[in-house]
Amino acid sequence: MFSPIEIEGQEYQLKPMNCPFHIQIYKSRMRSYRDLPIRYAELGTVYRYEPSGTLHGLLRVRGFTQDDAHLFLSPDQLDEEIFALLDFTLFVLRRFGFETYEIYLSTRPEKYAGTLENWAKAEAALKKALERKGLPFEVDPGEGVFYGPKIDIKIKDMLGRSWQCSTIQVDFNNPERFDATYIAEDGSPRRAIMIHRALMGSLERFFGVLVEHYAGAFPLWLAPVQVDVLPVTDRQSDYAQDVVARLRSAGWRAEGDFRNEKLGYKIRESQMQKVPYALVVGEREALQGQVAPRKRGGEQIPPVSLEEFIGILKGELETTPT
Ligand SMILES: [Zn+2]
Repeated sequence: MFSPIEIEGQEYQLKPMNCPFHIQIYKSRMRSYRDLPIRYAELGTVYRYEPSGTLHGLLRVRGFTQDDAHLFLSPDQLDEEIFALLDFTLFVLRRFGFETYEIYLSTRPEKYAGTLENWAKAEAALKKALERKGLPFEVDPGEGVFYGPKIDIKIKDMLGRSWQCSTIQVDFNNPERFDATYIAEDGSPRRAIMIHRALMGSLERFFGVLVEHYAGAFPLWLAPVQVDVLPVTDRQSDYAQDVVARLRSAGWRAEGDFRNEKLGYKIRESQMQKVPYALVVGEREALQGQVAPRKRGGEQIPPVSLEEFIGILKGELETTPT
């Protein structure tokens, strides 16, 4: 254990995980089998003492945010819950454009908590869910956590590097240690099973991997700025302001470049920033109420009305794989 940090006579301790807090919420009142499964999710900030030599950009940091969840359920709900969870995990990873994974099923280590029967059930549930999804996986014998077996999913980025992100861990031990129970149908108290799950893992690392994966050229839905509006001269400033305002009120992330620079310079900057679309507005566009779109790769689209352009954006969003 690390010694607490003392500030003005008050002792503070860094929080390395979110689990115990969710358990306390679960235990804050009596739970019935009818309430289960109960799912708590949190973007929880946690701290780990990583040696300074291992710190690396966003990929390994000392304070990070986990998309953490803890699910409390009865043993007969394990199969369905894990299957649904696997589905959810893959939905999220695919939505972000990760299509190749390395999947590991880690089984009971030599030292373990809980009963053999529960371990067998949990391992079978994890295996069944992977098979039902038709996902190839490797078994890592004995590599489970002492409290239960787990599925780890590593994503592969564009450069073929693997990153540990998603994890689904069954836990028999914490419900026992913290006495997390529910009242079964026959009125007797039973021990709940807990699942720890993270989809992206650390948000910092996930976004670090995302930036590398897309080399900064995010798909339209994910790009921090989706459209740059570039007036050719000062005379189109008012019209360009109006275009930015209309795009924003339609829900798009648009910026205008009103600096007194040459158009070529503004286009190059927009391309460097990897903004998906630049809208050039010159005298003719302003006069005709149109915009001249230019895609990130340099492809030019003939001038269209703003409504037509928004139609193009919507069309592109619809073709984003889910
Ligand atoms: Zn946890």
